[in-house]
Amino acid sequence: MLHENRQTNEVLAPLVEGESLNHPLASMTSWHIGGNAARFYLPPNIDMLSEYVSLLPSEIPIHWLGLGSNVLIRDGGIPGAVICTRKCQDLNVQEDGNIFAQAGLTCAKFARFAASRGFPDAVFFAGIPGTIGGALAMNAGAFGGETWEWVQSVTVMNRQGQCITRGAHEYDIGYRSVILKQAGQSEAFISAVFRFPKKDSQGMSKIRDLLRKRAQTQPIGTLNCGSVYRNPPGDFAARLIEACDLKGYRIGDAIISEKHANFIINCGQARAQDVEALMATIESRVLDRFGIALHAEVKILGLKES
Ligand SMILES: Cc1cc2nc3c(=O)[nH]c(=O)nc-3n(C[C@H](O)[C@H](O)[C@H](O)COP(=O)(O)OP(=O)(O)OC[C@H]3O[C@@H](n4cnc5c(N)ncnc54)[C@H](O)[C@@H]3O)c2cc1C
Repeated sequence: MLHENRQTNEVLAPLVEGESLNHPLASMTSWHIGGNAARFYLPPNIDMLSEYVSLLPSEIPIHWLGLGSNVLIRDGGIPGAVICTRKCQDLNVQEDGNIFAQAGLTCAKFARFAASRGFPDAVFFAGIPGTIGGALAMNAGAFGGETWEWVQSVTVMNRQGQCITRGAHEYDIGYRSVILKQAGQSEAFISAVFRFPKKDSQGMSKIRDLLRKRAQTQPIGTLNCGSVYRNPPGDFAARLIEACDLKGYRIGDAIISEKHANFIINCGQARAQDVEALMATIESRVLDRFGIALHAEVKILGLKES
């Protein structure tokens, strides 16, 4: 079937079997917000992913999506191609004791797998409701642990669909930041090899404790994207937002959580424009009161509705 890309008036036809056109994305994000992707592909395996990427004309931008737990997709949607890794979930312990995980595996599954095999340092992954690919891209961290502390190597895919293995030392790693030292074209994470020390304890009960603690401080069970802002050095974004009396502040169906001021909740039919308006209010109030510019942790993608 042919479709028209409303942003570019380009007539689209699927490149491979399984690619969908004008695909709704809202339900693929934890916020349940956002427009459609002009092209969308959920590859069943890495070979088919590689073929798809190699067939995509180079002028079509690619956006990678895991579980959509750290993205705000704008109401006008994404005019390029969205590739979702969720089906690529291989996971095993290698002969050398390292753990291999593909990008689409959930961090929760990874944590349980590692903890039950004597790698309790991996339990922090249980607090990250995304994929391994998303955790690698964001250097996600929770309960004092961070993804890249444990990475030995990653396999990435370049814009030609080729896989390349890179060592952790090839990246500059920071707080929620991962930058390839050698500047070049963009690459996506396909899999990673992690090295954790083997210990006697298993960590499964630790996972339950950590999740219980988390439920006490975060609005679990609501539609949100976790922390909207990075913490500024030496402070907490939530403390600054709360001090501006913004808990419960609402625009449309987007509301600042009463439980945790760095969370914005979609309490019904919120649109990306509501969330962005709320973010503009937060940023200007915090800047006026404390002179601190907050920086978004959430990745904002796509076009505003025209
Ligand atoms: C309730 C809640 C609690 C949270 N708590 C935490 C927390 O404690 N700590 C924390 O760090 N985060 C937290 N988050 C945010 C989020 O879960 C993490 O950032 C997570 O790593 C995102 O993974 P994802 O698969 O959902 O990525 P997505 O949201 O799908 O994508 C996030 C970014 O990563 C990129 N990306 C995704 N996959 C790939 C890939 N394979 N290759 C290259 N780039 C890719 C995307 O393009 C995008 O820029 C929380 C979110 C929620 C909803």
